[in-house]
Amino acid sequence: MVLSKEKKALDLSPFPDGSGYYGMFGGRFVPETLMPALEELEQAYMHFQNDQAFQAELQFYLEHYVGRPTPLYQAARLGEVLGLPRLYLKREDLNHTGSHKMNNALGQALLAKHMGKQRLIAETGAGQHGVAVATAAALLGLACTVFMGEEDMSRQEPNVLRMQLLQAEVRPVHSGSKTLKDATNEALREWIAVLEHTHYVIGSVVGPHPYPRMVRDFQSIIGQEVSAQVREREGGIPSYLVACIGGGSNALGLFAPFVQEKEVQLIGVEAGGRGLEGNQHAASLQRGRPGVLHGALSYLLQDQEGQVASVHSISAGLDYPGVGPEHSHLKMSKRARYVSATDTEALEAFHLLAGKEGILPALESAHALAYLHPLAAEMKSAGRQGEVVVLNLSGRGDKDLSVLMQHGGVGRASE
Ligand SMILES: *Cc1c(COP(=O)(O)O)cnc(C)c1O
Repeated sequence: MVLSKEKKALDLSPFPDGSGYYGMFGGRFVPETLMPALEELEQAYMHFQNDQAFQAELQFYLEHYVGRPTPLYQAARLGEVLGLPRLYLKREDLNHTGSHKMNNALGQALLAKHMGKQRLIAETGAGQHGVAVATAAALLGLACTVFMGEEDMSRQEPNVLRMQLLQAEVRPVHSGSKTLKDATNEALREWIAVLEHTHYVIGSVVGPHPYPRMVRDFQSIIGQEVSAQVREREGGIPSYLVACIGGGSNALGLFAPFVQEKEVQLIGVEAGGRGLEGNQHAASLQRGRPGVLHGALSYLLQDQEGQVASVHSISAGLDYPGVGPEHSHLKMSKRARYVSATDTEALEAFHLLAGKEGILPALESAHALAYLHPLAAEMKSAGRQGEVVVLNLSGRGDKDLSVLMQHGGVGRASE
């Protein structure tokens, strides 16, 4: 394929390079002892990516077990309120276990099995990734241990029980802020100790090479389906793609097939928490500086001394101080733009979708929904409000019921 000069100037493909860099971001900043495992994984991934039997097996499970393709739903009543007549929701909430996380967990679990591994370990924040990995482990007959911060265990109790019912061991992490960052540290530590029979399933497009690329590839099914679905329904390509950003995997899954289509606007919505002015947010791309976390160089929220900052979001799945290196590159090259929605805005968006469409979104996805207000205003002033917007509804809200109760429960809807 011959790339046009313009596309080359954007320098966005084929990323990452051989050492796992996206521009200046990414890489493999890990202890020497981990390098052989990462190389083994990279080799296996490159091999099975082109292996027809592996791909057919993955496709089989995605279709008959996960329930893909997920619908692309035109949200007419929500679109009417917002002034966006061609608003579509990509229903990743309808996947088995309730989010996009299953696409990646299944892909990596299957890869691990083909590599001859007998056990999966994983970190989890909201619990969605842990549940997805525990599910894939049960499906494929692998043992499973999930590391979870104590704070997250109490915020996401139903998911802890789910993992245990799926016969996974949930190991509480007491260090640091007792959240996702600390669980990831523990999982990496464990992996170094038990490399041979164990695969570490990272849950987002973060971590050392080849994880960011592998996770993006497993999630790209989202954007591939959207591409075909929009072509069928609208006869073209979408104008705007909107997704929330934790580590950035549901967003990259949606964006990936469109990165070369310069006219498609890519918008990532970070957790604005209690506002970007203080330090009660998780807006790594907007308020962070380049730094190394969990094996990769990327935008990172840091304090004055360069220590990893503590972060806040109402949604446990966005409560992470780092972000995938490919997003840092998409920001730096201005190919994508990154914005934020606060806790309050996300809650309002949750209730709006529930009331208008009968869908309870995950609080993570509600951040992306919240950004539709400013986006609609921007599209209106540009005379573009009739164009196609696709929002990735990354997960369902059942896991967030206790958080919603703490924030006024159903009372809010009538406020
Ligand atoms: C984990 C999670 C996210 C955030 O993770 P990404 O890697 O940024 O996609 C978003 N939505 C849901 C429902 C999640 O479970």
